[in-house]
Amino acid sequence: MGNAAMIDVSLTHEIDNYLKRLFPICRSITGEGNRETLRILQEIVPLQVKEVPSGTDVYDWTIPQEWNIRDAWIEDEAGRRLIDFSDSNLHVVSYSEPVDAWLDWDELQSHLHYREDLPEAIPYRTTYYNLGWSFCVNGEQYEMLRASKGKLHARIDSSFSDGSLSYGELLISGRLKKEILLSCYICHPSMANDSLSGVLLTAFLANHLLAMQEELNYSYRIVFVPETIGAIAYCATHEADMRKIESGFVVTTVGGPGKLGYKQSFDASHPINRIIEQVFQEKNIDRVIYPFDIHGSDERQYSSQGFRINVASISKDKYYEYPFYHTSLDNLDFVRSEAIVETLEIYEKVISKLDKNIIYRNKMPNCEVMLSKHDLYPKTGGSFLPSGLEAALDARLWLLFLCDGGVSLLEIAEQTGLSIDTLYDSACEMENKGILERG
Ligand code: ZN
Repeated sequence: MGNAAMIDVSLTHEIDNYLKRLFPICRSITGEGNRETLRILQEIVPLQVKEVPSGTDVYDWTIPQEWNIRDAWIEDEAGRRLIDFSDSNLHVVSYSEPVDAWLDWDELQSHLHYREDLPEAIPYRTTYYNLGWSFCVNGEQYEMLRASKGKLHARIDSSFSDGSLSYGELLISGRLKKEILLSCYICHPSMANDSLSGVLLTAFLANHLLAMQEELNYSYRIVFVPETIGAIAYCATHEADMRKIESGFVVTTVGGPGKLGYKQSFDASHPINRIIEQVFQEKNIDRVIYPFDIHGSDERQYSSQGFRINVASISKDKYYEYPFYHTSLDNLDFVRSEAIVETLEIYEKVISKLDKNIIYRNKMPNCEVMLSKHDLYPKTGGSFLPSGLEAALDARLWLLFLCDGGVSLLEIAEQTGLSIDTLYDSACEMENKGILERG
């Protein structure tokens, strides 16, 4: 694709550096790894970091104790370290309780996870709400443990404490009180596509929105939360704010080598889905459409009955779909910064159009406006106009014809075949001349 040549080299370089710094950190739904991640993200964008204390009730859930882990390993009787947390933090099931025990193979076996169908990978597993401990290993390590003589020493140096769940938040105000939500999740340890790629894309997208804040119509609520419990906690502590949200995105799995696509929000005819579709068509990109499904990420919370926010996800190698999903092979060989930038550009374009989807009203509805009097009629005479001028004139005429305070610019774009960008530019021009007003 022609896009590759246009990609901003300094941006990919910057994203590469952050990928390398953030990838090794052991994140979970709570803990120091999440705070360290948020601190690093603050270098990109001025996030506020907030804490919800353990034990806080959030709807039907309760914020759990904070989990932290320092080290873990399995050794044989000769002191050989067969499994080492410092090689990969996926080796320990997230939220494992501490253990220090000598075990037979039969006992240890019930505390091991591996993927028979993908033996080169260490799987990713969690045990957030069931006390227990386990290790995750690849097929070779599993066989090595099975073959080892004598007992095996399993050690997990982890702790639970009354602490808090951390999240990051940034509000960017535009002219309108109505908001668009950008949400990503910070709870995954060393995996790159799910969802470190989404976290970095969100940070750089937030940065882009901050740079163009003066032009923004909508306000933007940008959150970095642990998945599920973090999104629930955010909704519970921001119930009134959430009602201002018009639509939004859960940004995840945006940096794989596979195809671009999007998961539709629950209402397939909602503007957010139509605008995403328009952008893919304009860019002539073949995309995969994933219709709304009840399984997924934090749209499960944001779109629940009480909130019903239309939330879509644009992805490159969507979660569930790629073979390395939730394994150690979802790593920095699988994810490339160029792919993240490619998806970032789609997000930027989609948001730019979404932000222009405004309703206008013609203040002079009785007969035609005399465009030349307002310097809105092309001065070039003759029956044919250069195409740029022709589109501008068409946009003005259609806007005057259709803007009755009840039709959005997206609907006018769909009806006329003109782009929402052209219509918006013309509408702003006529707004400045006092002919249109926001409806
Ligand atoms: Zn995941």
